[in-house]
Amino acid sequence: MKTLTQPALLKDKCYINGEWHSAASGKTEDIMNPATGEVITAVPFMDDTEALKAIEHAAAAQIGWRSELAKTRSAILRRWFELVMANQDDLALILSSEQGKPFGEAKGEIAYAASFIEWFGEEGKRIYGDIIPENIPGTRMTVRKEPIGVTVAITPWNFPAAMITRKAGPALAAGCTMIIKPAPQTPLTAFALVALAEEAGVPAGVLQVITGDSIAIGEVFCESKTVRKLSFTGSTGVGKILMRQSADNIKKLSLELGGNAPFIVFDDANVNAAVAGAVVAKFRNNGQTCVCPNRFYVQSGIHDEFVEKLAAEVDKLKIGNGMEEGVDLGPLIDEKAHESVLKLILDAKEKGAVQATKRDLVTNKRAPFISPVVLTNADDSMQLCSKEIFGPVAPVYKFETIDEAIAVSNDTDAGLAAYLYTQSINTYTKVSEGLEYGIVAVNTGAFSTEVAPFGGVKESGLGREGSMYGIEDYLEIKYVCLGGL
Ligand code: ADP
Repeated sequence: MKTLTQPALLKDKCYINGEWHSAASGKTEDIMNPATGEVITAVPFMDDTEALKAIEHAAAAQIGWRSELAKTRSAILRRWFELVMANQDDLALILSSEQGKPFGEAKGEIAYAASFIEWFGEEGKRIYGDIIPENIPGTRMTVRKEPIGVTVAITPWNFPAAMITRKAGPALAAGCTMIIKPAPQTPLTAFALVALAEEAGVPAGVLQVITGDSIAIGEVFCESKTVRKLSFTGSTGVGKILMRQSADNIKKLSLELGGNAPFIVFDDANVNAAVAGAVVAKFRNNGQTCVCPNRFYVQSGIHDEFVEKLAAEVDKLKIGNGMEEGVDLGPLIDEKAHESVLKLILDAKEKGAVQATKRDLVTNKRAPFISPVVLTNADDSMQLCSKEIFGPVAPVYKFETIDEAIAVSNDTDAGLAAYLYTQSINTYTKVSEGLEYGIVAVNTGAFSTEVAPFGGVKESGLGREGSMYGIEDYLEIKYVCLGGL
C-alpha cells in the first residue's frame, strides 16, 4: 500500500466497547488487494460469543447516549465528519486498496460517506414531535419520537465507507447505538472510520465493529431481543434470510437489496447526454452498484447512434490498478465476481448478443480484471436480463413504444432505480409515474446525495436511507395521552 499520512488508521482489530480486540479464538482472516492479490493484513475472525458481548455493551451504552442532548450528539458527529474529511486521502487509500476502485473514486466515496455524518448530525437536532388537538374532553395528546435502541448494520463491499455512514449517521444522531458487521472483503475502511469516531468523542459501546463469521454473527443479531433494529445492504437472497431470522422478535428492518435498473432512451433524447449519463451510471465502481443500469432499453429510431457512441466511449475507459493515474476501472472485487460476470456475457453471446465494443474480454488473467463491454441484440432469454450483472456490461435492447418500455422495465421483482432520457414532458410524466421504482433519474446518470431518499420497492427492500426520511427509520413514535384534566 502507498504510504499513509496517519499509519495508525490502518487497524487490524475489532472495536468493541471502546477497545481494539483480537478474536478470543485467535483466528484471523486475510484481507487482499484485489488489484494485486497481495495480502494487506489479517483481521479477527470473531463469532457468536463476541457478537453477544458487543450487544451487551451496546445496550449499556444506549442508556447514556439516548439521554444526551441532541446538540451534544450533533457536535460529536460534526467532529467525526471533520476528521473524516481531514483524513480523506488516507481513508481513500485504505478503501481503494481493499476494494479496488480508482483512488479518485475512493476519495469521492469518502466525501459522500462524510456527508451522511454531517447531514444527520444536523437533522438530529430537528426530531420534532407533535401535539394533537384532543378529541376527548380533559385530555392532552402528544407524540414523541424516541430512538429505537440498539441497532446493528450489515454492510456490503461495494461502498465500504458510505454504506456504513448512511446507517451509523442517522442511528447515532437519533440516539441509537450501533454495531457494524462490515463485508469480509472490506473491513479496513470500517475500522478506520470508527477510529476517527472514537477520536471525535463517540463514547465506548455507542459504535462498534465486529468482523468474522458472517452467518453466526448475523444469526445472533437477528435472534437478539435487545437488538431492536437491523439495517442491511446487500443481496436480495441474504436480505430474505435476515428477514426470516428476525421474524420471531418482530425486529424493525431496513433493507437495501438488489436492483435490476432499466435505462430507457427515447427517440427524442439528447443522445450525447444519454451516452454520458450511461457511462457514469453504468461504469462507476466497475458496474458494481445496486443502482447501475442493468438493462438499456433504446427506442428504435435512436438505437444505432446510441450504441455506436456508447461503444466508442466505453472503449476509451482505462482499466488498471486503481492507484495508477488515469485509471477509470479497477478490478472486480474477487474471482467469484469475475467468473459470474464472464458467465453472463458468454450466455448472452451464445443466445445472439453482439459485442459492440472492440476490446477482447479478459485483460488480465492473474487478477479479476474484465474489459467493459456493450452488447447489442439483447433479449429476455438471456440471464443478464433478470440477474443483477454487478460488472461493466451494458446490454442494449431495442423497443418501439412508450407502453412497451414501461412494461418491460416493470417486468422484474426488483424496483430500486430506473433511468430515462427524453425531451418530452409527456413522456417524462407518463414514464416516471408508470415505473415501479423507488428512484427515477430523468436526463441524468447521477442522483445519489445525502439529502435525497435512497431505497427501493418490491424485492429491492424496505425503508429509505439519506434525507429527512432516513432518520425516521431509527425512531419510534410514542403517543402519550394525558387524561383527568
Ligand atoms: P455479496 O454477494 O455482494 O457479497 P451479500 O449479500 O452476500 O452480498 O453480502 C452482504 C453482507 O451480508 C456482507 O457483510 C456479508 O458478510 C453478509 N452476509 C452474507 N451472508 C450472510 C448471512 N447468512 N447472514 C448474515 N450476514 C450475511
